[in-house]
Amino acid sequence: MVTMETAGVGSLFSALHKRGYKTVAPTIREGAIIYDEVASHSELPVGWTDKQDAASYRLERRSDNALFGYNVGPHSWKKFLFPPIHKLFASQKKSHGFDVQTVLESKDSYAFVGVRPCELAAIAIQDRVFAAGEYRDPYYQAVREKIFIVAVNCSNAGGTCFCASMDTGPRAKNGFDIALTEVIQNGSHYLVAESGSKRGAEVLNELGQPEATAAEIGAAEKILKKTTAAMGRKIETKNLKELLAANPEHPQWEVIAKRCLNCANCTQVCPTCFCANVEDVTDLTGTKAERIRKWDSCFTLEFSYIHGGSIRATRKSRFRQWMTHKLSSWIDQFGTPGCVGCGRCITWCPVGIDITEEARAIREHQQIQITTS
Ligand code: SF4
Ligand code: SF4
Repeated sequence: MVTMETAGVGSLFSALHKRGYKTVAPTIREGAIIYDEVASHSELPVGWTDKQDAASYRLERRSDNALFGYNVGPHSWKKFLFPPIHKLFASQKKSHGFDVQTVLESKDSYAFVGVRPCELAAIAIQDRVFAAGEYRDPYYQAVREKIFIVAVNCSNAGGTCFCASMDTGPRAKNGFDIALTEVIQNGSHYLVAESGSKRGAEVLNELGQPEATAAEIGAAEKILKKTTAAMGRKIETKNLKELLAANPEHPQWEVIAKRCLNCANCTQVCPTCFCANVEDVTDLTGTKAERIRKWDSCFTLEFSYIHGGSIRATRKSRFRQWMTHKLSSWIDQFGTPGCVGCGRCITWCPVGIDITEEARAIREHQQIQITTS
């Protein structure tokens, strides 16, 4: 492990640019911290934090110049790996027939800087969906293979986070090239950096930073313990899969359905949701056609439409599908829950529906009892 002054983060950006990466990092746009391409570390939200609660998000000035003193915003890294609107192919009529151009390859190599531990877990989940198993997404694979990840451990617990209870944070365990922990205390401000891959180690060596002292490593550890202790929300995951599967007619589903607008915000901000629709578009002359993939959501009536009608015709059935999939049937499909505890669906739900409270309500008033041994 090495210790970096904040200026070292500027050198880190330069080292990544030198290797041909486009750097994507948190930055402020239109009153929120989002992920976008940035030219240097000066575009990070230095000295800002985000205050989050159910249906509430606002930026505030911090009393220091923290580079990473905030948590996750409305964007997630999935927009680069699994774009919201993506052309799958285009065809053009020629004298001999149609020329078809697939648009599958990605020209860009991205360095994601500022990936939170819960987001690493979300990327690992999407890897299982898009890049493992029988059906693989070649575009996802092409982008994913070229990504360099600089993770940032969380020095603050966000208002809606519950990663500790999902075992996905606040410390990054794997899946990164470099992981940083920012320490601000007693007039000092530095980052403890560790490598998680060979290329991460090469970049850190090139930066020529000093070895971290035991005191600096200890200070970083203490901050992460404090973050865990400060997390205000949690989900009891024990037997949750069985609990939800056994309670499809629980009265709580009706209670939520009366509040839920079926707006689909929760699925759009979620870093693991992967539902999409495919549209074919032709021009009026009949000479061009395109196939476009767009993010969709289990909250739309059309998403479950098959000949004759939608399978999930009620709000209750759509909310139940979302939450039961996230916390129960996802485990059957992919071996882990589909929720990493990032809290985005709570913050960005316009009516403040909180997945942690709903899971608790179902557990506390079980219709079909699940014994917890
Ligand atoms: S379900 Fe909510 S808390 Fe869980 S990963 Fe998705 S947005 Fe984050
Ligand atoms: S839970 Fe909230 S964000 Fe999700 S569909 Fe319902 S109202 Fe919209």
